[in-house]
Amino acid sequence: MSTVGHFIGGEDVIAGSRTQAIFNPSTGEQCGDVELAPVATVEQAIANGKAAYPAWRDTPPAKRAQIMFRFKMLLEEKADEICQLISREHGKVLHDARGELQRGIENVEYACGIPELLKGEHSKNAGPAIDSWSEFQPLGVVAGITPFNFPAMVPLWMWPSAVMCGNAFVLKPSERDPSSVLYIAKLAMEAGLPAGILNVVNGDKEAVDTLLTSPDVQAVSFVGSTPIAEYIYTTANAHGKRCQALGGAKNHAIVMPDADLDNAVNALMGAAYGSCGERCMAISVAVAVGDEVADELSKRLQEQLKTLKVGSGLDNSNEMGPLITAAARDKVVSYINGGVEQGAELVVDGRDLVVPGHENGFFVGGTLFDKVTPEMTIYQEEIFGPVLVIVRVKTMQEGIDLINAHEYGNGTCLFTRDGEAARYFTDNVLVGMVGVNVPLPVPVSYHSFGGWKRSLFGDLHAYGPDSIRFYTKRKTITQRWPASGVREGVTYTFPS
Ligand code: NAD
Repeated sequence: MSTVGHFIGGEDVIAGSRTQAIFNPSTGEQCGDVELAPVATVEQAIANGKAAYPAWRDTPPAKRAQIMFRFKMLLEEKADEICQLISREHGKVLHDARGELQRGIENVEYACGIPELLKGEHSKNAGPAIDSWSEFQPLGVVAGITPFNFPAMVPLWMWPSAVMCGNAFVLKPSERDPSSVLYIAKLAMEAGLPAGILNVVNGDKEAVDTLLTSPDVQAVSFVGSTPIAEYIYTTANAHGKRCQALGGAKNHAIVMPDADLDNAVNALMGAAYGSCGERCMAISVAVAVGDEVADELSKRLQEQLKTLKVGSGLDNSNEMGPLITAAARDKVVSYINGGVEQGAELVVDGRDLVVPGHENGFFVGGTLFDKVTPEMTIYQEEIFGPVLVIVRVKTMQEGIDLINAHEYGNGTCLFTRDGEAARYFTDNVLVGMVGVNVPLPVPVSYHSFGGWKRSLFGDLHAYGPDSIRFYTKRKTITQRWPASGVREGVTYTFPS
């Protein structure tokens, strides 16, 4: 069984430290080990980044972009290999892994535009013979810490923009599915990225804390659960670093009485059960406006759930794979038990699903609750599994009030045919990413991604234009070249 190590200064590194098992969630079997980097290994990665940074900072952006173009081609060429690695360790179905990778490639495409994106702002004759401009300089060594659920895409949200801005990067991916990340880092080297500009260290809290406290790390991007995001943000800030920390979610979709219900049900099936609900943009609450809508929604979702094809992620004919670990499966099952105990109506129960030939896989079937109320734990907390709950309200305003009162504000959606209702909803809902008849309103790569409330700690969102601001510092230069021979008197007045 192979041990996954680290990638530092363009070399594979095995530190001989603690390890953690990696599982194939579809079979429940261990498929490898990952090393958990000790402090010295993380420091080695930071030192490599620091050494490689000065020459990279001075490399023209257009030359850096050429490397990204080659990298994008390699990602496309090697897509099948990458998706196999994702599916084997994460469990998501291959076609879903391909979608994830495609979204990651779009972030690489965005980063290819760096010569344009880094153009500064210029003012000629800001004063007599005075020109002034702002330019955007890289920060130095920056770090990224990423979750298990998009092992290829979320790292690609971060480091392509960061290194195109001229920084060196240390990435600490999820220790639960680390292989695709290392494979992709090597493709970046093959495309021409200099050694030390992208370093990958696998690990747990010890590795993360080393990044958060190192004086040589200037900024930290994090994506993961809210309690860890809050810890990352406060610790990074306390150590003088710029930080953006994206957290968890509980995304509601309001279904209006005028909605096209067939489309809404299809959209909800994909948004709730795709990737086994392990998406920060998954819809986990369907808010039905009126009992008639709720009854019909429940009935049609039950019918569709009967045909949901659950099985191994490596079989592309499946629609939903397993959860990431046995612990994740047990946690989802305990949420379902809790929902029953608190009085919600369990209309489809996925707890006892057995996938023939994969009896030890970490599967839970698609689960549906009706008549869920806001004080129930299954309403309040992020379950991160294939569990959709229906909450019944009387008006759209009641639905918006529910969403606005929730601690999370990542994504949301309104299903309607009414433009006035849609406009009111997008104006008044306190959520960062809003869809109208679009259940997963994940922004395209040339916008930026981020939630509101406790779904994001920090000011700037991930990828897109915000990432260029996050990974650079503005410097404003004011320059005067008086004509030769001109002598100016002394002035004690503040310049105006
Ligand atoms: P997680 O918070 O457990 O782990 C995320 C990262 O933090 C991993 O690299 C992990 O090694 C590290 N980590 C875990 N515990 C730590 C600790 N005590 N100290 C320091 N570092 C620690 O999240 P996960 O289970 O990998 O991912 C699922 C979560 O991520 C869900 O809550 C999901 O909503 C969220 N998520 C959010 C977004 C978003 O854009 N908002 C995107 C994807 C996932």
